[in-house]
Amino acid sequence: MPLKSSTLSIVLPAIGLALSMAYPSVAVGQNAQKPTTYEVVDPPPCTNNKGETVRFVDSQRARSGAAAGMAIRDSGGKPVVFRSNYSATPPEFQSFIDRHECAHHQTGDVDRPHPPRNSADHLMNESISDCVAILRMRDEDGYNHAAFNRVAAAMRHEMAKIGFPEISINSRISNIDNCFTKYGPPQDFVIGILKQRGLLLP
Ligand SMILES: [Zn+2]
Repeated sequence: MPLKSSTLSIVLPAIGLALSMAYPSVAVGQNAQKPTTYEVVDPPPCTNNKGETVRFVDSQRARSGAAAGMAIRDSGGKPVVFRSNYSATPPEFQSFIDRHECAHHQTGDVDRPHPPRNSADHLMNESISDCVAILRMRDEDGYNHAAFNRVAAAMRHEMAKIGFPEISINSRISNIDNCFTKYGPPQDFVIGILKQRGLLLP
């Protein structure tokens, strides 16, 4: 018996090494503590400001382990949301990302010149999309305050994981809290933004 187990302990690291060279991602999954994974939710209905239907596509563009979304037009010019690593975050936050990315389509961000990263205009677009997302969850999906807190907790967790400072996390959460508590229906909010931008279709 002792002989057998000592043989095993010599053989196993060798297998692990071979695996990590041939299939790095498999080896990471086996050696690291297995991260929690969640079922991926169905995407919400989404239409952009021009009335085009927005498609949701699961993708692996972002760094692994961090759930993320991207609102863009695909190579054929069709509006799309790419969903990356959604299984890494709880369903409430998956839903939030979907609606946030959809909001970039609803408010016309996707077809406007992208403001410089982290500029005031960029942060404003992000705050607007966050606001639309949380209002939709409140009015269309019946999120109460307890559900809001789960979204906020997941947001905090995800942002901390990527290395955002506490102050950015707090200000983002305080923005959605403010929207959730004080603002009217999401459609009215979106219409206000489109009006402001001269994008409201007659
Ligand atoms: Zn965004």
